[in-house]
Amino acid sequence: MATTKKKPAKGRKSRKVTPAMRERDTSSRAAANEALHNYAVLCLSDPAELELFRSIAASIGWKYDPASDDPGYSLQNVALLAAQRRPLVHCGGFTYWLGQGRVVAEGATSLGTFRRIGRKKQTEEEKQREEELAAEGWQSTKPRRPKYYVKKGTFDVTQTVPREQCPHCGTVPTGPEDRTTQCPTSCAVFAPRLGSKPPIALAIEVLQEQIKDEGEDDGDE
Ligand SMILES: [Zn+2]
Repeated sequence: MATTKKKPAKGRKSRKVTPAMRERDTSSRAAANEALHNYAVLCLSDPAELELFRSIAASIGWKYDPASDDPGYSLQNVALLAAQRRPLVHCGGFTYWLGQGRVVAEGATSLGTFRRIGRKKQTEEEKQREEELAAEGWQSTKPRRPKYYVKKGTFDVTQTVPREQCPHCGTVPTGPEDRTTQCPTSCAVFAPRLGSKPPIALAIEVLQEQIKDEGEDDGDE
């Protein structure tokens, strides 16, 4: 492979990636793809699981365009989250839950989602600039595939406990360090949220995309 000269991106600090980090990224991505594959096979062979997938998407919030800044998860990420834990009601990160008056419960294991590396969308100007750079030989003319990595740190509401008196059921933690006193399962905070389910055809399409033939890698490289 010929090495292509790369112009350093302006105004952006490049993240230093050691071989160990790269390896960790690759293995967590491989594990995620494996989990996704197995979950997709399950959903596509069991109508009840497919229906649960759609309900989870409706409750945690999903969006059509994974690259958009709209709230919600891409259907691929819904599938990845559901592959790790089911059912799911309402997901967010550690800080999000603090803002909701809840804290991640002691011993809870975070869930991973795919995150895109680099900026989400190119403006026309940026696209043009890339073409110019390619014409000058600074970078490959091949369209660049988005790169993803797996980021841990997502928790479902059922993995959190009230940090102060729960406004729904009145459960009070025993103190500021208490990360075990939980709301009763009947607490409204655990109720699935009303949202629109993804169309069945779209759900099936996204799940089918997660199925990898043996030996096929994730296509990222
Ligand atoms: Zn509660």
